[in-house]
Amino acid sequence: MKQMNNSEVPKPSDFIREIITEDVRNNKYDSRVHTRFPPEPNGYLHIGHAKSICLNFGVAAEFGGLCNLRFDDTNPSKEESEYVESIKEDVRWLGFDWGDRMFYASDYFEQLYQFATELIKKGKAYVCDLSPEQMREFRGTLTAPGRESPYRDRPVEENLGLFQRMRAGGFPDGSRTLRAKIDMTSGNINMRDPVIYRIMRASHHRTGDRWCIYPMYDFAHCFSDSLERITHSICTLEFEDHRPLYDWFLDQLGVYHPQQIEFARLNLGHTVLSKRKLIQLVGEGHVKGWDDPRMPTIAGIRRRGYTPEAIRNFCDRIGVAKRDSTVDMGLLEFCVREDLNRRAPRVMAVLRPLRVVIENYPEGKDEELDAVNNPEDPAMGTRKVPFSRVLYIERDDFREDPPKQFFRLAPGREVRLRYAYFITCTGVVRDENTGEVVELRCTYDPATRGGDAPDGRKVKATLHWVSAAHAVGAEARLYNALFTKENPGEESGDFKTDINPDSLETLENCFVEPGLAGAAPGSRYQFERLGYFCVDPDSSVDKPVFNRIVTLKDTWAKVEKTIKGEAKK
Ligand code: ATP
Ligand code: MG
Repeated sequence: MKQMNNSEVPKPSDFIREIITEDVRNNKYDSRVHTRFPPEPNGYLHIGHAKSICLNFGVAAEFGGLCNLRFDDTNPSKEESEYVESIKEDVRWLGFDWGDRMFYASDYFEQLYQFATELIKKGKAYVCDLSPEQMREFRGTLTAPGRESPYRDRPVEENLGLFQRMRAGGFPDGSRTLRAKIDMTSGNINMRDPVIYRIMRASHHRTGDRWCIYPMYDFAHCFSDSLERITHSICTLEFEDHRPLYDWFLDQLGVYHPQQIEFARLNLGHTVLSKRKLIQLVGEGHVKGWDDPRMPTIAGIRRRGYTPEAIRNFCDRIGVAKRDSTVDMGLLEFCVREDLNRRAPRVMAVLRPLRVVIENYPEGKDEELDAVNNPEDPAMGTRKVPFSRVLYIERDDFREDPPKQFFRLAPGREVRLRYAYFITCTGVVRDENTGEVVELRCTYDPATRGGDAPDGRKVKATLHWVSAAHAVGAEARLYNALFTKENPGEESGDFKTDINPDSLETLENCFVEPGLAGAAPGSRYQFERLGYFCVDPDSSVDKPVFNRIVTLKDTWAKVEKTIKGEAKK
């Protein structure tokens, strides 16, 4: 591994990087930096995990170190290979590489068993016969100390024998545990003789039925870190109270000892970031799956069309702190918009079509007009868009009886069709039964080709449009927040009561430029004036399906403040 000299050490930008900078300077761990990202494969990763991934892989890269991917698979009842595969895909998609360092805590089961045996031999662990209910009763509370188990002083030999028989399948599930012998009066409940091993006959996704005892997370985690010679074990704040236990296990056996450092987890408004809750949304059919574009999962936001660059940028902006806070969804969308503005080609699409007939445009004629692909990037060039006598415009862009501030199309009014001509509305056609306007009759001014009047006359609005004869029929899926409350369930106690019934609006009769026929799933575009859209895998050859990634303007009330605050920094 590359070692750094002091002049190469990057300038710290948060307290974790400060700690690591100091450690490198002081030659702690021989100035190595080796982190890990340790997901439990019991669900898909979410945007909160992205923060941890960016931090662990990011720090390692900045300090010339390494980052491992380790599956913390110590709880067979909830873990599945499907989740392992999704996690690998998501980490790779975010742009990170674990090289040949993909590990499983289950790889260490034998070694962990030996560590537990060592603890027993040192008189630091014992087999306890208390039932789960009794154990809870003996544990005490935050204000009352716990009581010692009557099995606490079993002789070492007896403990060794019982532990072996636990492994051999000699006892029923839940009938015994192996516990650390620490301090039942500790102010930190985690130190009150925590369980290290439990008996559980459950098939493990990797070790099958080889084991019927499984190590607890706290025990497996610190030793996994130690075995992999991790230097900085970065985790979220809820593990702060577990750090004394992390240190205790490693100190008892005198093995290599990484430094645990805690940071505040990401909370995001109007969504939930907890696998337990996300599993319910999927399992109970509130969404269409883990990769439903409304989900805050990496798979969901990938399908929606977010870019890895935008997510990494978001993680940089929110930074790393010691105190919990909730980040506004607007900031995430701001990062997505900023990235797509640079990269996404512009196209014209009409989501809610209103038919327009240009009465003085010859029937059967069509022509190709030049359109700019991205005003932000001239290198992206231009394209041709077809124009003809019958067009679609956005229904919202016409008002029969326009209010004062409405400058778009209305009877008698002239507007510009983007890249095309000035048109004037001369009449409307109504549905005989409902009276609804179903078609506009217009005239165009041939002298305004390209969108400018040679006589210098101005119009107050420019509309997007598509040529009816050339357009491709499409479906658009418009997503809104999955929850109506910033902190779902805060008031009711049940996050599901705050699910937004209008989180998905499907428009099946949209039209897009012919150039989008057959667009590959995952391609992203800006639909002019409407938002950024991404081709969904549900698309068929003759009907593309577009997910709205994000609107063009912020629709989240508080974001202005957030972004202005950012800009001032
Ligand atoms: P969840 O609460 O969603 O079940 P978890 O913490 O149980 O998450 P793990 O698979 O154990 O999920 O998490 C892997 C790593 O990701 C851990 O180091 C954890 O601290 C980190 N992590 C999980 N959620 C967040 C979050 N919201 N923000 C930052 N890091 C997170
Ligand atoms: Mg966890």
